[in-house]
Amino acid sequence: MQKTLSFDDILLIPQMSDIKSRKEVDLTSEMGGKQFQLPIISSPMDTVTGPEMVRTMDAHGGIGVLHRYNTIEEQVAMLRQAESKTTGAAIGVTGDFMERAEALVENGAFLLCVDVAHGHHISVKEAVESIKNKFGDNIVLMAGNVATAEAFSDLEDWGTDVIRVGVGGGSICSTRIQTGHGIPTLHSVILSAGVARKSLIVADGGIKTAGDAVKCFAAGADFVMLGSLLAGTKESPGQVFQSNDGKQYKVYRGMASAEAQIDWKGTANSLEGVSTTIPYKGSVERVLSMLSQNIRSGLSYSGARTVKEFRTKAQMVQQTQAGMKESFTHILTR
Ligand code: IMP
Repeated sequence: MQKTLSFDDILLIPQMSDIKSRKEVDLTSEMGGKQFQLPIISSPMDTVTGPEMVRTMDAHGGIGVLHRYNTIEEQVAMLRQAESKTTGAAIGVTGDFMERAEALVENGAFLLCVDVAHGHHISVKEAVESIKNKFGDNIVLMAGNVATAEAFSDLEDWGTDVIRVGVGGGSICSTRIQTGHGIPTLHSVILSAGVARKSLIVADGGIKTAGDAVKCFAAGADFVMLGSLLAGTKESPGQVFQSNDGKQYKVYRGMASAEAQIDWKGTANSLEGVSTTIPYKGSVERVLSMLSQNIRSGLSYSGARTVKEFRTKAQMVQQTQAGMKESFTHILTR
């Protein structure tokens, strides 16, 4: 049986470096002919990406993808509020998805994201092909999520420009518990990088630290997509509330959680996500700035000045349980 590797199973070997400052490290990645200084994408979830998140992601050189859990009119209104920054917008594969795609493109969306849990699916093939037929290279077409090399190659063949890689790894995801299916995100990124020809790889699900993002880039990701790391901020949709302990929180929920499904379509079935609260973090600008600095440091430990160079230089090793224990802060409190 094949063995799979998750973020905490591996470490990157520190290498000779002549980088004297983190500022020498350039994180720029390209997508659809545009340069992005920060290879981070905010997830199309209703507690992560609305117009404010799009604007802030854009201001920091990243990309925001508006969620699709609303009417076409509501999503177009969000797109307008984002002032057509370099905005992504999610669509589904059934119902009015083509009408939605047309409205989003008409209103200036830069990227359309065919957003489903199991991307290696005939409905995704049909949707991707009809969107590609309709809009050609006028938009960047993202789709997913996929977990295997076969799936990545198929989506690439169907005409997907950018592929979301990772099934079952999200912090609010219960797909692996409920269905037994999935592959650790890092492993799927490694598999995808082995077959990618022209489509970009977006590592998505389970990225809990800057170090995990660094590991994704080492494995071949062009961008990382984040949910929990960006949720609970001033710019994520939803209210801040105070709990009995006097601390401030915001809701973060999986789009397949009962709460999200009921809000979105009135009923809940096939639950593959949970809803939770996370401590309020203040502005996402601070989160992005910390991530950016730490990812730069990450590249410099391998002596790499760009993400591309990092990919060729980075060397992974597998760590033991004892190694993992040592890797987490572990000062004895006695
Ligand atoms: P996080 O960054 O670990 O919080 O994961 C975010 C990712 O989880 C998203 O970008 C989606 O790919 C995925 N996701 C969002 N909602 C759900 C859900 O309800 N079930 C399973 N996966 C989800």
